[in-house]
Amino acid sequence: MIKDFGVTAIHCTPSYAMHLSEVAEEMDTSLDSLKTGIFGAGAWSESVRKTLERRLGLTAYDSYGLSELFEPGVAFECPERNGLHIWHDSYLVEIIDPRTGEQLSDGEQGELFVTPLVKEAMPLLRYCTGDVTMLLEDSCLCRRGKKITRIMGRSNDMLVIRGINVFPSQIEYVLLKIPEVGNQFMVY
Ligand SMILES: [Zn+2]
Repeated sequence: MIKDFGVTAIHCTPSYAMHLSEVAEEMDTSLDSLKTGIFGAGAWSESVRKTLERRLGLTAYDSYGLSELFEPGVAFECPERNGLHIWHDSYLVEIIDPRTGEQLSDGEQGELFVTPLVKEAMPLLRYCTGDVTMLLEDSCLCRRGKKITRIMGRSNDMLVIRGINVFPSQIEYVLLKIPEVGNQFMVY
């Protein structure tokens, strides 16, 4: 279908995109009409981004959203690909220390709480996403307000090793630098 219709953009999970690239390879077909990939709803690393870009010949952007919060998403990367812009007119976001419940400042890592501002049928207040990220100062040319970093892990997955907060995603980052490891995704 991608080939038949000359599809140029795809929005799916990174693992599905990886699957697509593998199927295309098995079928000995190319998906070279694709130019843009927006991937989310699953944890993925920078090394996975590079792999998807190489295998699918597109530019890969991160997106963040949860079905509880309203689709299609809460935050997206812009062409700078340095943090995800939040739709501030639709969501109020806070970063909370999951241990103390205190609100954290920009640059401090904590759990993302989101209050949808336009959702009607199922209003939510300070929804605890369980996702760990931090707010970034607005230094982007887009000038669309503060951004969040890519999701670093799940708040209930955090390990404290010798006093340092460690997430499985950080271990994945190191492991995927080893070529023999392959392209496995961490499952949170
Ligand atoms: Zn931007």
